[in-house]
Amino acid sequence: MSKIKSFCRGSSSAVVLGELICEKLKVSTVEAVYNKTAIDLAGEMRCSFPAFSGNRLNLEKHVLKSLAEKENFSGFMNYIQHPRKHVESFIKEEVKKYIFTEHKDKTLNIQKKNVEDIKELVIRALFTATEKVKVQRGDTDMWLKEFSSLLKDKMAFDTICSQNFSDINDFEFLKKEVEKGLVSIVTETSSFSLEKMKEFRLQPDQILIDQLCTCCWVQCPFCGAVCTNTLENHDGDHSVPFHRSTAVNGWHYIGTVDFVVEFCTTQVASSKSFHPRHDSDEVIPHKQYRTAGSDYANWRITPDGSNLSYWKWFVCQFQKQLEDYYDLKFQGRGEIPSEWKTYSKEDAIKSLDEMYNL
Ligand SMILES: [Zn+2]
Ligand SMILES: [Zn+2]
Repeated sequence: MSKIKSFCRGSSSAVVLGELICEKLKVSTVEAVYNKTAIDLAGEMRCSFPAFSGNRLNLEKHVLKSLAEKENFSGFMNYIQHPRKHVESFIKEEVKKYIFTEHKDKTLNIQKKNVEDIKELVIRALFTATEKVKVQRGDTDMWLKEFSSLLKDKMAFDTICSQNFSDINDFEFLKKEVEKGLVSIVTETSSFSLEKMKEFRLQPDQILIDQLCTCCWVQCPFCGAVCTNTLENHDGDHSVPFHRSTAVNGWHYIGTVDFVVEFCTTQVASSKSFHPRHDSDEVIPHKQYRTAGSDYANWRITPDGSNLSYWKWFVCQFQKQLEDYYDLKFQGRGEIPSEWKTYSKEDAIKSLDEMYNL
């Protein structure tokens, strides 16, 4: 009589404990799978998505390409004024497109594989814990400790107090209870949603932003081009292979509304001078631009003729919008050279490929 009673009590305890384990497993499986999928997707994009699979210059090229393709002036100004913020939103947008539109099958496959891995891990842990307890004639406490220690490297699994379950003696039965619950956990975790993804610690776009945007973002004081050094606080000068027309950054001739259209790489070779600050009359010869204060001192601007036709196209294409934006004019000394007007959008994009692939 007493033996049967104890068995009944023990088996209902096993059902309750099985349910409790499954509840916890469900939460930690979803978390572990989404986090792993985020890492895998970021890794996948770093290998196969052209904008993210190269160096910093390559990313910049793709950002500029996308801006040209969209031909949206406020997008350009956002990039020119807040390059880091713009590049971060570019990454976010591209990741979203990749995961949920262009490669949503791939995303789902990665997610399913990660669910399958977790399922196998749990099944192995159930088996090992049950065998150990059987062989060593252990109790619920031993089973729970063994089970959670086998999971802990791959997923979070809160400890369950074994006190209320000390009457369990059929661990094979407990194992089967958890396996039953596991089936629905696997089904529920096999889909992938943006809302769900946002709940977890790791996001593929944030992983890529951390990898790709932890670098120098200092802008050329003349043209606004961003330093391309891959270290956030680097020694030595800031530099960039391609500068821009300083009109892009709103430079103009003092006392007039005439833009300065030349590239800063041309200006630093000229015998002209500039006013580094609005609130002072101080004049600095371009050739000695480094003496104009801290913003200028650490920039290496080498005089050369590599004037990316991209920016020539940009100035011509958005002439009117630039005039309105800065309240200046492309007139007088700031007239746009006629050669600049010969570039099409396709030429501009092609110039990026040619220059950035050097
Ligand atoms: Zn510059
Ligand atoms: Zn720098």
